[in-house]
Amino acid sequence: MQLYLIILTLFFSQGFSCTKNENAVISEKPFVRNQQVSKDSSANVCFEFNELNTKVRDGLISKKDAIEEIKTLVPQVRKYFFDNGGKEYSYEKWIFPVKGLGPSAIGGTNGSGYNAKGYDYFDGNRHGGHPAHDIFINDKNQDDIDDYSGEPVDILSMSSGVVVALEKEWDTKSGLRGGKYIWIYDTHTDALFYYAHNRKVTVNVGDIVKPGDKIAEMGRSGLNAYKKRSPTHLHFSFLPVKDGVVKPEDPYEDLINAKVIR
Ligand SMILES: [Zn+2]
Repeated sequence: MQLYLIILTLFFSQGFSCTKNENAVISEKPFVRNQQVSKDSSANVCFEFNELNTKVRDGLISKKDAIEEIKTLVPQVRKYFFDNGGKEYSYEKWIFPVKGLGPSAIGGTNGSGYNAKGYDYFDGNRHGGHPAHDIFINDKNQDDIDDYSGEPVDILSMSSGVVVALEKEWDTKSGLRGGKYIWIYDTHTDALFYYAHNRKVTVNVGDIVKPGDKIAEMGRSGLNAYKKRSPTHLHFSFLPVKDGVVKPEDPYEDLINAKVIR
């Protein structure tokens, strides 16, 4: 009887994972689909997108097949967003993705850190280029904690959207370059926002976010980000999706114009 109760409790505590509730209980195993209990079966599309993204990441699907799948999934993700109360915010309302920091924390000079040459989303973990901006904190001893505030640093969603993929597990033996990452699909720009190298991801697949919502804490997870030569930073990308094709665009102007949260 006791065992039965434990199983029942476990079952219900793992439920309702793909909802707009930011405090959804399931967090450690977001990819286990048969544990998912949702009133809205359209939520499955978020998990399908996550699975697809993982296959692309790991080189387990051809570019052609992946494009076809994205074409099918995107309209369903849009529907899921609006069916679950998602509200679009245009770029005037965007929030700088690192709390307490502003444009001066962006690496390079006037956005020179961005280099999309050689990058193809469909190359997954083996991609080239750096279609991203790195945003740095002061963390001399590389413990993820901001040297000035003495606190972890919150990563905020720049846009509105749906969490369509993430990775919460990473250790130093992993070859994953993004470490603990998050992909958010914004219906307003039809684009993916990518946040990598986090110490902790605080959202779940299927969560609906608005600009400024906390999604993670900055960290050093990822094959290269973990190395001593790499100062602690957020790796941030913006990738419009058109006809299933995912292609990065430089979000520097948007980062410069985004509202800073102190
Ligand atoms: Zn980077």
